[in-house]
Amino acid sequence: MAKYTDADCRLCRREGCKLFLKGDRCTSPKCAMERRPVVPGQHGAQNTRKKQSEYGMQLREKQKIKRYYGLLEKQFHNMYETADRMKGNTGENLLFLLERRLDNVVYRMGIASSRALSRQIVNHGHITVNGRVVNIPSYIVSEGDVIAIKEGHSDNGLFNELSKMKITTPKWMEFDTKSLTGKINAMPQRDDIDMNFAEYLVVELYSK
Ligand code: SF4
Repeated sequence: MAKYTDADCRLCRREGCKLFLKGDRCTSPKCAMERRPVVPGQHGAQNTRKKQSEYGMQLREKQKIKRYYGLLEKQFHNMYETADRMKGNTGENLLFLLERRLDNVVYRMGIASSRALSRQIVNHGHITVNGRVVNIPSYIVSEGDVIAIKEGHSDNGLFNELSKMKITTPKWMEFDTKSLTGKINAMPQRDDIDMNFAEYLVVELYSK
């Protein structure tokens, strides 16, 4: 499968906002968006000030959402098509599906400091859903699902610090740092998504 191999921080600079791709570094003064918030490349500063066309705005919004959740183009487009087949607002459905991906849930529960790390944690079989190992990052969770770190894996260095941490989760889920178990209490709502996304632009782009 194709893989993005360039520096993650370039993606934030390209989209002009923090996408929180590198864990703790993103909230530190080392963040590239704090130090050099311009489009990457030789003419970055000029390109940052350029007025965008309608198509350009739609494309950038799609790239921003796709990169924030760490998806490749084909995965993202497939998810859009699923969202489009669902009842209701396609743009919101798309965001809800992205939020419900297991890798995002593991990240939101505070088990991993970035979505890239949470994807690795899921891939390596550290996570169970309702008592069974699920190693598919794109798995879509449902209301009532119990997400946990697999029994016997809690002494892995990745999870050592969790029991000492105070984790704030979105209101549609919970995670207990003592039992290393979490639960999906409800489906996400639009105001649970803290990024300022204009998802209607993605719908406009793909509807052309
Ligand atoms: Fe983006 Fe994080 Fe890099 Fe800052 S440190 S530019 S938020 S990936």
